[in-house]
Amino acid sequence: MINTIYIEREIADHPRVRQICENFSDAVTIICERYGEVFNPKAQNFRLQKRRPALILARKHGGTVLKTPEGYGIGGNHNYYFSHMLNCIYDCRYCFLQGMYRSAHYVLFVNYEDFETAIVSKISEANGETIWFFSGYDCDSLALEPVTGFVDHMLPLFARHPNAFIELRTKSTQVRSLLRTKPLPNCVVAFSFTPKEISAALENGVPSVEKRIDAMVRLQRRGWRLGLRFDPMIYHEHYQAHYRRLFADLFQRLDSESLHSVTLGTFRLPVPYHRNILRLYPDEPLFATTLEPSNGMVSYKPPIRDEMIAFCEEELQRYVTPDICFSCSTL
Ligand code: SF4
Repeated sequence: MINTIYIEREIADHPRVRQICENFSDAVTIICERYGEVFNPKAQNFRLQKRRPALILARKHGGTVLKTPEGYGIGGNHNYYFSHMLNCIYDCRYCFLQGMYRSAHYVLFVNYEDFETAIVSKISEANGETIWFFSGYDCDSLALEPVTGFVDHMLPLFARHPNAFIELRTKSTQVRSLLRTKPLPNCVVAFSFTPKEISAALENGVPSVEKRIDAMVRLQRRGWRLGLRFDPMIYHEHYQAHYRRLFADLFQRLDSESLHSVTLGTFRLPVPYHRNILRLYPDEPLFATTLEPSNGMVSYKPPIRDEMIAFCEEELQRYVTPDICFSCSTL
């Protein structure tokens, strides 16, 4: 899967780097000074690189934990996010990462301890109040877990700080290490879904809806708290029938009473990301006429947006109480 690994010189001897390289013993390794040399140059094509991405192992200097944009969250007052990785092994056509980054290479920051220090500092600033940390903002939280071991490394920190909550957002079925671990009441494993027709058309490489439900069922039986994320919701002619069936399939197998939260959000992108993605996929119907720019974002026209949210909220009320449902309009 990974044929080339770039390694920043200053972390070349880091034990985590050595361990990761052992997993890819056939890969060519190339030393660089800073990951930006490989990741940031302008003359790159995300779409071409996505066919054969390299792994870049780097150190994150500052900015490890950041405040979430206004309106992002699931009911908490203190909300932060962090990304131990940039980019994702999957290839969803609607993914904002392809408009945000010039490169499709995966960057993994190996200085996990600096993430821990920053998280602990935010926890102390919260003075005992509940504080949320969202992982998987610039990547999928679990998809590369067998290689990174990041979640495995971080969970003991959250076990020591019960007022700090972590959301792991994923479309993967990489739940083996969670199944081996004692469930934490302050960890929410949040799975993202679109109906299977949309997933098949737009979510390249993502495990099927059925396999993700299987993974959720196993986690729920083990005692993990789960979330459902319908964000982005994708408008299409039969969206009502497709989302209705998706909800029915999920709630037929999941215990809705022990679900932590459900979030909804219609497809949207910041204007510059939309422009970049259009250059990559000029013929993609997803980016065609139903979208319009407003307040720096490109999204569905208000009647479509409102209709979708109202329809899905009403459908969800058949299965869950409104107090665990949240709508999100920021990225
Ligand atoms: S799973 Fe999420 S992060 Fe990965 S490509 Fe799809 S939308 Fe992007």
